[in-house]
Amino acid sequence: MTTPTDWMKKEYNDLVKKGFDWKPPVITGASAARCIINGTEKIMLCANNYLNLSTHPKVKQAAKNAVDTHGAGSGSVRPIAGNMDIHNQLEETIARFKNREAALYYQTGFAVNSGLIPQLAGKKDAIISDQLNHGSIIDGIRLSRVRNENRTIYPHNDMGGLEYQLKTMTKQCEKTLVISDGVFSMDGDIAPLHEITKLAREYGAMTYIDDCHGEGVLAGGRGIGSHFGVEDEVDMEAGSFSKAFGVVGGLVAGEKHMVDYAFNKSRTMLLSGSAPPATIAACMASIEVLESEPQHVENLWSNTNYFRKEIQSLGFDTGVSETPIIPVMCGESHSAKALSAELLNHDVFALPIVFPMVARDKSRIRVMISAGLSKEDLDIALNGFEKGGKSAGII
Ligand SMILES: *Cc1c(COP(=O)(O)O)cnc(C)c1O
Repeated sequence: MTTPTDWMKKEYNDLVKKGFDWKPPVITGASAARCIINGTEKIMLCANNYLNLSTHPKVKQAAKNAVDTHGAGSGSVRPIAGNMDIHNQLEETIARFKNREAALYYQTGFAVNSGLIPQLAGKKDAIISDQLNHGSIIDGIRLSRVRNENRTIYPHNDMGGLEYQLKTMTKQCEKTLVISDGVFSMDGDIAPLHEITKLAREYGAMTYIDDCHGEGVLAGGRGIGSHFGVEDEVDMEAGSFSKAFGVVGGLVAGEKHMVDYAFNKSRTMLLSGSAPPATIAACMASIEVLESEPQHVENLWSNTNYFRKEIQSLGFDTGVSETPIIPVMCGESHSAKALSAELLNHDVFALPIVFPMVARDKSRIRVMISAGLSKEDLDIALNGFEKGGKSAGII
């Protein structure tokens, strides 16, 4: 018998045949530098838990306490009956941490981009976006009413290309919005934010920076605005609690009137339940830990610098990485898959990133460094890379 959803079976089987389907490993217990993956202990090299805060005692305790005082769920969307004292406290904490007038917390980083971006530009406006921006930014732009011809892309980090688009778009449109990732998740490189903000000001455009991978990482954890000393120049600084902060959630920080507007206009804020107390309290504790215990960010960078130096001296190419995202280039996808399999034999878990996520000849193992990794962990990983890289013919 056929059913109306049989086409899904066919499409799914096609994915499986091409090897493009996901087979997520099972993590038993907490996400940590060493964790149980598919039944055995592995060194984790592909989580976003940069500062290892997801298991920090203060962060866990804050989550437990909040369940006792505030319950398991918030009961509603924020604007109706889901606005608890702790939601407001978290936003004050974020604003202080980001050194901005105000901040707004969303359920996820994805909800920031898909809820807010569509409200920032309309039919008579333009959006200019970096070629390598995250998929949730692309979805946010798709949900906007900006005309197709006024949705433009500039070559990755190319300031000449950005200026050309600014010149063209500001002439023919009312408002113009420039959007860029802060740290790019595939290559680990950083947007030249000081140049982006300068150009945008020159042409009277708004700036939206998605710093999901820069927060908790750059500038002692304060993110890309602080890294370039241009916090006040970024109109919408968006970010996530699901990466370095080790919890989950999204944020936008900036001027108070922007935050008031975002709260009242983002459909992901208006139509989706607010985050539960345990999550809110854990996010707040995570910021406080980051502020009071600088060793986590310091360990992250000393691990990053050690690993990058050693992997390069083994003969691997790490592309343009400047952050704890370190792509180890492999060439064709079969090499990346062979290296990843060999790493697993050495109890090292790192994912191959292959076409269609990156170009066919740019396949890689994307290493994400964590503050929780010991020197011994890193040396085990480097040994696995050396053996696997030689047997796959990469080095
Ligand atoms: C991870 C990520 C997101 C999504 O953030 P979540 O909080 O996990 O939903 C958005 N943008 C960028 C650049 C990201 O890296």
